[in-house]
Amino acid sequence: MDNPFNLNNLLRENIKKLVPYSSARDEFKGEASILIDANENPFGSPLNHDYNRYPDPLQHQVKAKLSNIKGVPAENIFLGNGSDEAIDILYRAFCTPGVDNVILVPPTYGMYEVSANINDVAFKKVNLTADYQLDLDGIANAIDAHTKLIFICSPNNPTGNSIRRQDIETVLNNFQGLVVVDEAYINFSAVKSFTQELAEYPNLVVLQTLSKAWGLAALRLGMAFASKEIIAVYNKIKPPYNINQATQDIVLEALNNVDQVNDWIKETVSEREKLVRELLELDYVQYITPSDANFILVKMEQPREVYDYLVQYGIIVRDRSKVELCEGCLRITVGTPAENRTLLEKLNQIN
Ligand code: PMP
Repeated sequence: MDNPFNLNNLLRENIKKLVPYSSARDEFKGEASILIDANENPFGSPLNHDYNRYPDPLQHQVKAKLSNIKGVPAENIFLGNGSDEAIDILYRAFCTPGVDNVILVPPTYGMYEVSANINDVAFKKVNLTADYQLDLDGIANAIDAHTKLIFICSPNNPTGNSIRRQDIETVLNNFQGLVVVDEAYINFSAVKSFTQELAEYPNLVVLQTLSKAWGLAALRLGMAFASKEIIAVYNKIKPPYNINQATQDIVLEALNNVDQVNDWIKETVSEREKLVRELLELDYVQYITPSDANFILVKMEQPREVYDYLVQYGIIVRDRSKVELCEGCLRITVGTPAENRTLLEKLNQIN
């Protein structure tokens, strides 16, 4: 790549000087039998686990397993308390409040903007085009000397479509800051993940999560995949024990169930296509964006009325009808076959 990207130039001054937190236990290499270094309870925990001990700060076992599943070396993986933590840390590492800025491409996932606001970082919005693809000229024009991050969500939330690979590559090749490709919904698409391109692009950060296809939203485990230099930055900033032991234990076990997850993915994709076909039969449904995710964005007449009608039956969808470029749209997550049947039954009764 010809991009003169330089990670050190991108970092905030205070972060350059930071040394990663290290506990006495991390520094000790031998076999210890008496652990009296961390002010823990030596007797045990009230549960049948050794939860009295602090967890592995770098989650070696979980990363080893994820490395296998994802085909990415463990040294290129950061684990966060949800991908939301992986997003927030990027702001704190690279964006000086009141000085730097980031580029967002709405309509997209709301947390990029929330995190910008929390960190007092300015954002420039370059709307997606009418077919929900990147406006490459708009992005090129918005970039200035203080632009540190660009967030691209693909498949995109709330529209569901994937962003053209070639366009993401154009941004990666031309932008000297970090390009964050959020692949929270990648398991539901046939598109190749950018995790296999880390060697090619030193300015690439790929986000994924166990909250969607893996069915582990409550555990809060997000992943960032990037060069080992970027992962080192993550490790300098994260709270030392950001992934608790219960999560590490349960995730290790859950990761043995790839087949179950793949079955769910297949069923979700087939239910998604069925839902699309049947919704398009309704005369008040105008358009459904082709989706690579586990939800669909449905444009219809009187979306708010439909939303309120569904609430009466205890069915909650997401009203996106006031969001720019999503006017008239409800975002509907693909449910179980029974849930989708009930939804369609109720929607068919509207006249
Ligand atoms: N990215 C996208 C695009 C999302 O839609 C979500 C959750 N709605 C997240 C990230 C956050 O995932 P996590 O549960 O890992 O914080």
